[in-house]
Amino acid sequence: MRVAMIGTGYVGLVSGTCFADFGHVVTCIDKDTSKIDALNNGEIPIYEPGLQDLVAKNVSEERLFFTTDPEDAIRQADAVFIAVGTPTRRGDGHADLTYVYAAAEEIAALIEGFTVIVTKSTVPVGTGDEVEAIIQRTNPDAEFAVVSNPEFLREGAAINDFKRPDRVVVGTESEQAVDVMRELYRPLYLNETPIIVTRRRTSELIKYAANAFLAVKITFINEIADLCEKVGANVQEVSRGIGLDNRIGSKFLHAGPGYGGSCFPKDTLALSKIAADAQSDLKVVDSVIEVNSARKKKMADKVIDFLGGDVDGKTIALLGLAFKPNTDDMREAPSLDIVEKLQDAGANVRAFDPASMEEAEKLMTGVLFCDGPYHAIENADAVVIVTEWDQFRALDLERMKTLLNAPKVVDLRNIYTSDYMGSRGFEYTSIGRSY
Ligand code: NAD
Repeated sequence: MRVAMIGTGYVGLVSGTCFADFGHVVTCIDKDTSKIDALNNGEIPIYEPGLQDLVAKNVSEERLFFTTDPEDAIRQADAVFIAVGTPTRRGDGHADLTYVYAAAEEIAALIEGFTVIVTKSTVPVGTGDEVEAIIQRTNPDAEFAVVSNPEFLREGAAINDFKRPDRVVVGTESEQAVDVMRELYRPLYLNETPIIVTRRRTSELIKYAANAFLAVKITFINEIADLCEKVGANVQEVSRGIGLDNRIGSKFLHAGPGYGGSCFPKDTLALSKIAADAQSDLKVVDSVIEVNSARKKKMADKVIDFLGGDVDGKTIALLGLAFKPNTDDMREAPSLDIVEKLQDAGANVRAFDPASMEEAEKLMTGVLFCDGPYHAIENADAVVIVTEWDQFRALDLERMKTLLNAPKVVDLRNIYTSDYMGSRGFEYTSIGRSY
């Protein structure tokens, strides 16, 4: 099959590359010339483990192409995917659909023969109807179907998630489009991946409901962690104790500094707006949004309290800036709130992240970005572990002690224990563990 992928960001590049690896011929299109030039020079514009090799393989086998010019790829495509951004609209929290509708207009003018137009971007309920209306209006003779096929991949594990998903969701009422989608995902039948075929509006809602539910789980365990600190309990043991119950499940029960990233914050907000527009209560999600955004700021207070209530003139080293390990994505990362609040309280911030510093530099001011973890902690009054990159799990504690002004560690990811750190001479605090 021939696929055109509009938008070559995290989702478009990974999905396009994986479809090519399935054997389809894929053209990834983006308006960002620097991105396309980089890809055509063999450089990968994002940090995603395994992607570089998979792109190189499919480019050399002539199944994967990159261009800024959508014309030929769309004319020839059996399926055109829309994988553009749907950020939060400034001012009101709704998803901004400008890029999706602009892509729909471009597609409309170019499609030839029966073409399936697939929204892979996360879009509010009813967006597929509007995409359909745009295409009909722009090109009344076009033969097409609009399908919702939300993407569930996680940055940092994106290739595996795409190739071995828990399920594929296809939302359309067109049988012909279902056949095309089944053919595109046919290699997944080998893994017996469930393909859920549903109506388009239901499919659109599935994506938001999934992300909101995960955000609820994280926020729930974060609040339980706070309670643990007050009542002498240990959140990791609570997580294990509840997570082994199959009805609950152990995933997304790790207490931490609050969720961030390019999806949960904007998708919970957008779902709340969808519900408000439909005059349907979604109080659980509304409070999750409020609790999580307060939590990110509270993490800076935790650091300040740990340092005796005053960080004015003190130096604090942050290990990890990205919202999670194995990505360079800084969107809505808790580190942004933590740094801002520490700086407002007069602290000097030094930081190291293995992948996200280039992005972080665009979003943070006054931070000294360092060459490695030991450079970051030099002469610091405390270390704050913000992102649980593997390389922070086995730090050389003796070396750290000689470099630090004071052996103090705030572990916002619970990657060490107080016994371990205490026995090595560190003053240590973490999340939700009274012991
Ligand atoms: P991104 O910002 O990384 O990439 C979007 C790309 O689209 C950009 O490179 C932009 O230049 C390009 N673009 C915009 N309009 C275009 C047009 N008309 N023609 C060609 N290119 C155009 O975004 P992303 O993180 O890949 O997210 C895309 C969508 O997928 C969003 O709706 C997001 O919510 C959803 N999603 C993201 C993830 C994730 O982990 N990032 C996971 C699942 C779903």
